[in-house]
Amino acid sequence: MPEEKEVPEKVIVIGSGPAAWTAAIYSARAALQPLVVEGAITEENRLAGTLPLGQLALTTEVENYPGFPVGDLGAYLDSAVAEDRRRLMPPHNKEGVSGPELMELIRQQAMNFGARVVTDDVVEVDFDRRPFRLTTSDGATHESHAVIVATGARANYLGLPSEEKYKNRGVSACAVCDGALPRFRNKPLAVVGGGDSAVEEADYLAKFASTVYMIHRRDELRASKIMARRAADNPKIEILWNRTLAEVLGDDANGATGVRLQSTVGQPDLTKEVTGVFLAIGHTPNTAFLNGKLELTEKNYIRWTTPARTYTSVEGVFAAGDVADDYYRQAITASGSGCMAALDAERYLAAKGL
Ligand code: NAP
Repeated sequence: MPEEKEVPEKVIVIGSGPAAWTAAIYSARAALQPLVVEGAITEENRLAGTLPLGQLALTTEVENYPGFPVGDLGAYLDSAVAEDRRRLMPPHNKEGVSGPELMELIRQQAMNFGARVVTDDVVEVDFDRRPFRLTTSDGATHESHAVIVATGARANYLGLPSEEKYKNRGVSACAVCDGALPRFRNKPLAVVGGGDSAVEEADYLAKFASTVYMIHRRDELRASKIMARRAADNPKIEILWNRTLAEVLGDDANGATGVRLQSTVGQPDLTKEVTGVFLAIGHTPNTAFLNGKLELTEKNYIRWTTPARTYTSVEGVFAAGDVADDYYRQAITASGSGCMAALDAERYLAAKGL
């Protein structure tokens, strides 16, 4: 009997954040019947911060995604999200939309238009052949004429047990996402890092906080001169030089309540009371599985090869969201570029007659 030939997909979306699911919505509505490989639900992915639904699923309230002012979405969530997944979601807090809720809604929207889902990790890509071929961790292969990579990035943490313990209870890696929450208002906060992101986060947090301690391991910031000046000029920012975060202090009732800081120049430990600790020590894009098959930047992000397009170094492979963007890194910009990637893929397929 002749071997059954695999019918290639028109488009496969790899990823599960706002970029991936928005790409799925647009390509589904363009009748491309996208297959979304959303990642596996494993302990390894949980620890790495790469579970399905991405970084937004690790945050609490989302107050800057247009369309979700403060209000009670509970009834809408009940009616919009598939029952089996709604049952697994945390209770709605009646303040607008949370990261996990927003992601479930965007995912559901894509499913409603016919997106199909594989809950597994892509472990190998072959972009040298056409159609392209992807292999998932269970050994299955999937062929596709176009691929949209939207695997995002993960915030770097230091790896301290106390940091893990108080994540979402004072410890965060996104001031723009979490900074305005009540627990951080008019209270001292800490930002770890000395780059542009750390200054930006400290500057942003200073709008709400009583004091922001920047904890930097050297005696000179990595941040650009203009950003370093911004930190120096802000009366609410105090830089603690030559210090590293040794432990987040806290308790079950209050979450994070302070930090213990070690000296990198032989001084005694220092303790500061804070209600929030923000890590700003860089992000790592989820590009390792590409294994050199797409051109990356020097920081391992996928390189967009054409201004204002989502093209990559391989024709027919598109990139969207944080995996190709270390600059804006917002849910709305990721969604926007997911939409762009779907339109780019649709036009590519049409031009090739596929
Ligand atoms: P970054 O420039 O790589 O800075 C990371 C900072 O974290 C450095 O100060 C580094 O210390 C510190 N760090 C790293 N690992 C650490 C560890 N294990 N323990 C303690 N400290 C640690 O990253 P970024 O600030 O996220 O910036 C990324 C890129 O985006 C940069 O090109 C930046 O210019 C750009 N950006 C620009 C803007 C803007 O212009 N408005 C805003 C944000 C980001 P060392 O300095 O000692 O290495």
